[in-house]
Amino acid sequence: MKDKLKLLIELQEFDNRIEDLRKREAQCPLKIEELEHAWQAEQAKAKSVMERLENLNKEKRGIEREIQDLESRIEKSNNKLLNIKSNKEYSAALKEIDDLKKAKFITEDKVIQVMEQIEEVEKEASERKKKEPELRAQYEKSKSQISEELSSLRKELGSLDNKRKELVQLIDQDLLRRYVMIRERRNGIAICPVINGVCQACHMGIPPQKFNELIKSQDLMTCPNCSRIIYWAQEKDFQQRQSVVS
Ligand SMILES: [Zn+2]
Repeated sequence: MKDKLKLLIELQEFDNRIEDLRKREAQCPLKIEELEHAWQAEQAKAKSVMERLENLNKEKRGIEREIQDLESRIEKSNNKLLNIKSNKEYSAALKEIDDLKKAKFITEDKVIQVMEQIEEVEKEASERKKKEPELRAQYEKSKSQISEELSSLRKELGSLDNKRKELVQLIDQDLLRRYVMIRERRNGIAICPVINGVCQACHMGIPPQKFNELIKSQDLMTCPNCSRIIYWAQEKDFQQRQSVVS
């Protein structure tokens, strides 16, 4: 029985390792998705900065046209002044020129404000542009690291699966079925040691009589509390056991 149990302990170590690797394998696509998401968000931000810049430049050109328009109207009004005869008309024309100049002044203020905004956004755009190659490299690197991790996980899983198949052939089929059933129902632990009279899976004490039986008997025994297959860990056979799974 001891030898059978040793094989079962071995199998459980294989299965734990395989389960751990499968979990990590499942994480890889999620990590890549997260990475791509972050990269797309970064690119969207860069695009929106460029759009803002484009809009501001459009606005600036519009205001500059307004200023040109005002300038030509001022020039026209100035030319009109030369041909005016009456004082009334003259002062009306002067007022018109004055109003146009005021409007031009306000519009020039507007263009200065827009130019200041352009300067700010251009700075942001150029900083982003400077950082972009580094961010891109980082993104590509992380992505290929995850791909490498995934392929090494798959390689290891393949070799573990093969080794497991070999191991399973050495195990008594009834015992194997029992192991699989308990493992499914008991959170991945089907077989566990008893140390100082305590089941190491459920941490309940094994009644003394049953514990004595465990030490002496050659039969398969289970924990009366959690029903897992148990073995006495202090027995030298089990202490010397060496795992083939690293
Ligand atoms: Zn137990």
